[in-house]
Amino acid sequence: MFRFTVLGSGSVGNSVLVQTSETAFLIDAGFSGKELERRLLLRGFPIINLKGILITHEHGDHIKGAGIIARRYDIPVWFNELTHAASEIKVKKIPKLNFFSHEDVFAIGDCQILPFKIHHDAVNPTGFMIFHQPTGKRLTYCTDCGKLDELIFSRFATSDVVITEANYDEQLLLESEYPEWLQDRIRSHLGHLSNQDIKELLYELTSERTHTVVLGHISNKANSIIEIGKLQHKYKKRSSKMKVKIATQEKGTKWIDV
Ligand SMILES: [Zn+2]
Ligand SMILES: [Zn+2]
Repeated sequence: MFRFTVLGSGSVGNSVLVQTSETAFLIDAGFSGKELERRLLLRGFPIINLKGILITHEHGDHIKGAGIIARRYDIPVWFNELTHAASEIKVKKIPKLNFFSHEDVFAIGDCQILPFKIHHDAVNPTGFMIFHQPTGKRLTYCTDCGKLDELIFSRFATSDVVITEANYDEQLLLESEYPEWLQDRIRSHLGHLSNQDIKELLYELTSERTHTVVLGHISNKANSIIEIGKLQHKYKKRSSKMKVKIATQEKGTKWIDV
């Protein structure tokens, strides 16, 4: 077994549960402790079974409940050092604290984790590629990223499943209530990916390998499910075998097999 479920994705909170027959861990823990527990239980998963938490970057929507559940349930947490330093004031003391560096592989149970550098207005933002050794399958997680470079693209193209973001629609962002400086920040190379970026990515991801792309971190002020639906629909018409799924803030996704 190698599967995952997005517990929720967006500016309010982000977390993904990855489960194999041997282990289970979260990528990010951006909801309150109670809310994480509730969302896990909705999926039939008791929080005490968590074996770890991987942190991508220090923004509140990614770390909010990490410290609380790590202390309450004695769960190990993995950060890169700069991200930990920037998170410490919010997550407080973590009893089982672990560090990683970009491009260094470490293991949680039967999964090998490869962290890699991404582009965002955080001290040292990270994407993760998860290799499941028994099946040879790969899952890559990269949201909160202002641009896709060759390295990130190659991680995507060699994965069975990709979880990424379609944060904003260029036109809706222009018309949004966001002030100009914030709009500039969002569309900068240290901001977020747009629907246009994702459209290009989907057309480029022709590798036979990738069977599912999950789009999350969808802005509720500068994007809409309708726009993403159009994107999905257009893509489907090309009769590609690759599925494009949406992860929402409220419901995330169901379980998806890698
Ligand atoms: Zn975020
Ligand atoms: Zn962020």
